[in-house]
Amino acid sequence: MLLEVEGLDVRYGRTHAVAGATLNVAEGEIVAVLGANGAGKSSLLKAILGTVRPAAGSIRFQGAEITGAGVPARIRDGLVLVPEGRRILVGMTIHENLLLGAGLRADRATLPREIDGIYDRFSNLAARRDMPAAVLSGGEQQMLAIGRAMLAKPRLMMLDEPSLGLSPLLVDRVFALLSELNAGGMGVLLVEQNTRKTLAIAARGYVLELGRMVMAGSAASLLADQGLQRAYLGAG
Ligand code: ATP
Repeated sequence: MLLEVEGLDVRYGRTHAVAGATLNVAEGEIVAVLGANGAGKSSLLKAILGTVRPAAGSIRFQGAEITGAGVPARIRDGLVLVPEGRRILVGMTIHENLLLGAGLRADRATLPREIDGIYDRFSNLAARRDMPAAVLSGGEQQMLAIGRAMLAKPRLMMLDEPSLGLSPLLVDRVFALLSELNAGGMGVLLVEQNTRKTLAIAARGYVLELGRMVMAGSAASLLADQGLQRAYLGAG
C-alpha cells in the first residue's frame, strides 16, 4: 500500500474538521475524495502532508509510519500536495516557481531534462518562463502548480480541487494530465467537487461529510449510487 490513513482526527479548537477518517491508496492508483464545502477535505490533505497536526490517528506512507514526520521529510519521501488555489508566488518568475518544486531533491542529475519536459508539455509556460507568474491565467497557474509538484518526483500527488475556476476545456486537460502521470506509475489522491469527471479517471473514491467518511467504493459503484447522484451529481 502506498498510503494508509487510519482513524485520522483534525480539530481546530471546537471544530472537528476530520473525524476518524480512514482511507488508503495503492501503488499507482487514482483515488478520489468527494464532499461538499467544509466537509474536511482540505484538512485531510493538509494532515497527510503534515502542515496540520492531527489530534489522533496514524498515517503510513510506503509502509513507514510518518504521522510525526516533518513536511520536508514527507516531500523527500515522495509525497506532494498541489494546494487549493495553487499558491503560485506571483512576484517570482514562472521558472523560479517551477524550480521551487525541486528544492528538496537530492538526485538532480535528470532535473534539466525533466524541466525541458515540462516546458515541452506546457508551451504557454515555456514562452514566458522569465516573466512574473502574475501574467498567467488561472488555468496556466494550475499547470504551473502541477509542473512544480512533478519536479518533486512524487510517488503520490495529492491535489486539492485542481479544477476550481477552470474552463471545462482546461479541466479536461488537467484530468488528462493526471491520467497520464498515473499511467507512468504515480499515485493520485484527488479532492474534487467535479464529481463526474473525477470518478471518470479514479479507480475508487470516498465521500466525506462533516469530517466523516460516509461512503467508499469503486468509481463505478459511486457513480451508480442513487444517494450520491442526488447529492453530488445533479448539476454535473
Ligand atoms: P472547502 O472545499 O470549502 O475547502 P473542505 O472540505 O476542504 O472545504 P476544510 O477546509 O477542511 O473543508 O474545513 C473543514 C472545517 O474546518 C470547516 O468547518 C472549516 O470552517 C474548518 N476549518 C478549516 N480550516 C480551519 C482553520 N485553520 N481554523 C479553524 N477552522 C478551520
